[in-house]
Amino acid sequence: MNLTVVDHPLARHYLTTLRDGTTGNAEFRAAARRLTNTLVMEATREVPTIDGPVETPMGTTEGHRLADVVAVAVLRAGLGMLDAVVDLIPHVKVGFAGLQRDEETAEPVEYYVNLPVVDESTVLILEPMLATGGSLSWAVDKAKEAGATDIIALCVVAAPEGVKRMYEDHPDVRIVVAAEDAGLNDTYYIVPGLGDMGDRLFGTIDRPPL
Ligand code: URA
Repeated sequence: MNLTVVDHPLARHYLTTLRDGTTGNAEFRAAARRLTNTLVMEATREVPTIDGPVETPMGTTEGHRLADVVAVAVLRAGLGMLDAVVDLIPHVKVGFAGLQRDEETAEPVEYYVNLPVVDESTVLILEPMLATGGSLSWAVDKAKEAGATDIIALCVVAAPEGVKRMYEDHPDVRIVVAAEDAGLNDTYYIVPGLGDMGDRLFGTIDRPPL
């Protein structure tokens, strides 16, 4: 199984902040960004480097610069992971893939896709909640249609149902996640999970019904 669970104590610390229902949205955003740092460190472990000499003030040594990387934020919750990626990989090119969740089937409905050139790049798909796997599988389809061949998914929490679907649909895609939880409830939320990631990031949790 192409799943890596990042169990570094810092990752567990920030995940606990995210899980805590009393965490307010400012602290939630900061924890999402910090946790994503740990996921990016793991996910980029095997990203190719461009190697060559570098002149230090004291002499010459071999340098290693990260090759091209594209990040695709699955809207809207993936935006909560983007700052960390841009911070750690300043030359990253960024795409967006927008989905709305059908409240009855939980299947994704596409409303926006805008990807940079992805071939020759490692593509990091930012999809914090791997629940049914529908939206991540769809985002990977889009990246592959655009020519991506080296794709890694960064998730905060995964449900076994989503991991299984990804393995069936895209066995070549590595998933880097902070925790694999027990499963989904009957409205397709991850249990114990952390609630609705988008609502908690953006403070829309108390919004009255539209
Ligand atoms: N999306 C979320 O934000 N939370 C879940 O638990 C599942 C999908």
